[in-house]
Amino acid sequence: MSRSAEFSEEFSIQSLGAAGGLVTGSLHRLRHGESTIIVDAGLFQGKNDVLLPNGKSRNATDINALREVNTILLTHAHADHVGRLPLFHKRGLKPKTITTTMTKELMQVILDDAAKIQKNGDKLYNREDVERIMNYVKEINFGKDVKIGNKHDNLRTNFIYNGHIPGSASILIRKEGVVGGILFSGDIGQEINAICGGWGEVVEARPSEMPIKALWVESTSFDRHSVSFDEKYGLFMENINEILGRGGSVILPILSLQRNQEITEMIARAQNQGDIPKGCKIYKDAPLAQKFEEIYIDKAELFMTKRFGNNEDFYQTLEQAQSRFNLRNCLLVADNKESVKLADILGKSNKKSIVLTGGGMCGFGRVRNYIDGAFGKNRKNGIILTCYQVEGTEGEKIVNQGRLINAQNQKKGATVTQLDVFSGHISGESDTFKFLERFNLSELELIGIVHGSNDNRRRMAEAIKSRGYPAKVVLPEINEVIKFSL
Ligand SMILES: [Zn+2]
Repeated sequence: MSRSAEFSEEFSIQSLGAAGGLVTGSLHRLRHGESTIIVDAGLFQGKNDVLLPNGKSRNATDINALREVNTILLTHAHADHVGRLPLFHKRGLKPKTITTTMTKELMQVILDDAAKIQKNGDKLYNREDVERIMNYVKEINFGKDVKIGNKHDNLRTNFIYNGHIPGSASILIRKEGVVGGILFSGDIGQEINAICGGWGEVVEARPSEMPIKALWVESTSFDRHSVSFDEKYGLFMENINEILGRGGSVILPILSLQRNQEITEMIARAQNQGDIPKGCKIYKDAPLAQKFEEIYIDKAELFMTKRFGNNEDFYQTLEQAQSRFNLRNCLLVADNKESVKLADILGKSNKKSIVLTGGGMCGFGRVRNYIDGAFGKNRKNGIILTCYQVEGTEGEKIVNQGRLINAQNQKKGATVTQLDVFSGHISGESDTFKFLERFNLSELELIGIVHGSNDNRRRMAEAIKSRGYPAKVVLPEINEVIKFSL
């Protein structure tokens, strides 16, 4: 009897990142027979996640331990899910890598950027490494079933759209001839998603009838509640107009992938509906965001929905969907020199303008030109933050202050407001179970809760228990091996 036949139904999952209370560094190793499948190969990000107790970076930890990998499957293009992929190839490993077409498009930009921003001291890879690995990335269509791992193990995978960002997927893995599969949720988006369509509204999102026996699920925003599109839009307009109304300009530090497009689309709607003053100038000072926007436009047919917010009929044609980011009175800021100049102009005279800029957590990027320059000293101006500010970041500090404070003379400057209503992740118990229960959970035996704080993981574990699932629930620590059978 061969080894693979002997262990034919034994599986194990080891989470090497996004476990033990961390939310970044997603990398889960599934083993069965002669097959080792890796789901996501993400970077650890943020000081708390990156540093080991000995002060070394988790990202620099040798990936040689993973050398027997057959296949890598990628749920979506965010750096904390794909950013360690080049390391495999740098070590001479060439595992077949599978993801959706849109994820492949977006991850090229993400990885190029990651290669660029790594500092010399802990440079993990360069742009040539990225170039090389892109040749090994194979595309898969949603709903299509393909073979993975060692051919004797008869494993197959299937990507199911999950509404997080364009191209994002939950990944189902099963074994031919065995009833029951393993589901990795990936980062789950909202049921309704203004940009790419939520999991509740896109045809490809329909999961198969295959019963899920083991589930690895994210828990990032389990303690939050979801906010309706109209509520989000209303709050956003109210805050922008308050600043423009007092004669100031607004800075919107955005995340380049998805949040930028979401905000841009909202501003386009505000212009169309007359919800912001007619002559208000818009500046785009975010080069990376611009690259993603071009892909969103070029590849609109891959993820286009006919919906804006809760309005199903907003876009009737592909051309309308492609022009959804077109803004009137809009200027692109060419380079950093121009950016510094603009921050100075908007600081010294009141121009009632809106600037979208890179650097969502305010620590680095073009946003610093506005915080440190004349813009920040003008009390009429304001910064509106639309993304979660991680503990210990510059963004968190200035939100707590409520205003920028000049280091030299302690004078107070531009206001700082955080709108904590934009989230790329599914929020709260009822939405999470609404998503999960679209899958066949009637034979669920094991649930691993990952990608969340320990508080959120415990909260989700309690919810699973109170809902009466008989499944065993585990909160994996990093590197912990969890065995099960199908
Ligand atoms: Zn993500």
